[in-house]
Amino acid sequence: MNLLERELQYPLGDTLPAPGFTLELVPGVRWIRMALPFALDHINLWLLRDKVEGREGWTVVDCCISRDESKAQWEQVFATELGGLPILRVLVTHMHPDHIGLAHWLCERWSTPDHACRLWISSTDYNAARVASHSTTGFGGENAARYFASHGLVDPEALQKIRERSSYYPGLVPAVPASFRRLMDDDVLTIGGHAWRCIAGYGHAPEHMALYCEALQVLISGDMVLPRISTNVSVYDIEPEADPLTLFLASIDRFRSLPEQTLVLPSHGKPFRGLHARIRQLHDHHRDRLAEVIEACSAKPCSAADVMPVLFKRKLDLHQTTFAMGESVAHLHALWLSGKLRRARDAEGVWRFAAP
Ligand SMILES: [Zn+2]
Repeated sequence: MNLLERELQYPLGDTLPAPGFTLELVPGVRWIRMALPFALDHINLWLLRDKVEGREGWTVVDCCISRDESKAQWEQVFATELGGLPILRVLVTHMHPDHIGLAHWLCERWSTPDHACRLWISSTDYNAARVASHSTTGFGGENAARYFASHGLVDPEALQKIRERSSYYPGLVPAVPASFRRLMDDDVLTIGGHAWRCIAGYGHAPEHMALYCEALQVLISGDMVLPRISTNVSVYDIEPEADPLTLFLASIDRFRSLPEQTLVLPSHGKPFRGLHARIRQLHDHHRDRLAEVIEACSAKPCSAADVMPVLFKRKLDLHQTTFAMGESVAHLHALWLSGKLRRARDAEGVWRFAAP
C-alpha cells in the first residue's frame, strides 16, 4: 500500500468476491469482480436488488467485455447468486468496452415477451458506443495514426500498428442494444426502494454517469473516482482540440458535496471510504504533472511525444503508449486552452507547445 492509499479506508480489507460469486456490501448491493485480459486486469460490476413495474429482480451496473470467459462467469452468477430472480435492467456508466461490452447479450438474455430488459445509459455514450462498434474512433485506424503523428509519435512500426488496429472497439463490443433508456444528470432512479441520483461526469468518457444513494450513503463512481490509479483522461482524434483534463477536474469536484463517510464503489480496485481525500489527491496529482509539463515546455517547445516520458516514467507497450499519448495531449491542452502555453506547428507538421 502506498502513502496515498493510507489516507483511504478499505472496509473489506483484501477480501474480494470469488469469480462467479458476489459479495454483499450493504443490503441489496452486491459486488461482482471479473477478469480483463489487459494491464488493468479486472473490472467491478454491481448487482442491485430491484423491483421494476411490480417485478422482483435485479439491476446490473456495468457488464464486462464481450468474450466467452465473461459470459461463463455471468452464467455462474445467474445460477447461484440471483435467488431465482431475473435481471430486470442493465445500467451502464459509460461506453468503454469493459463497461458496455456485454450489454447487448445481457439485455437479450433477460428480455421476455412481456418485459424488455432495457439498457440505461447517457444518450451521448449510447450514441458514441453505437458509432464505435461499427467503425473506429480513437483506438486505431488511419485517422488515429495521423493524429498521433501530428503530436510527434514518429516510430513507423507503432504508427503501422495503430493503423491496423481498426477493429479494437468492435472486437470487444460487437453489438450495442438497438434501443435504450436515457440517463441525464440529476435524474433520480428508484432501485430496490431507494433513490439513486445520476451524477454526470466528463473528461474520461463522453458523458459518464455515476450513481449516488443517499439513504445507503453509497456512490457507484464508475471510472470517475478510482482508489489507486488515476482515471485515464485522453484527447482522441475524433475531437482533437478537446480539453478533457479541465472537464475531469471540474467533474470530480461535484462529488465533494457527498458525505465524507460515503462508501465508494469504483470500477477498478476495492470499495473504499475517503472520497474527499481521494479527490484532493487527484487534484494534487494533476497539478504536479501540469507543473512538470510547463517546466519541460519552458526549456524548449515540446510535442506530446516529448512530454510523454516526463509524465510516464515506466516503459510502455503500444496499447499503453496510445493511452499515454492521449493523456500527454490532455495535459498540454489544459495548459494551452487556459493560456499558459501556446502551440504552433513545426516544419514537420508536429504540434509543439511553448511558454507564451
Ligand atoms: Zn472507462
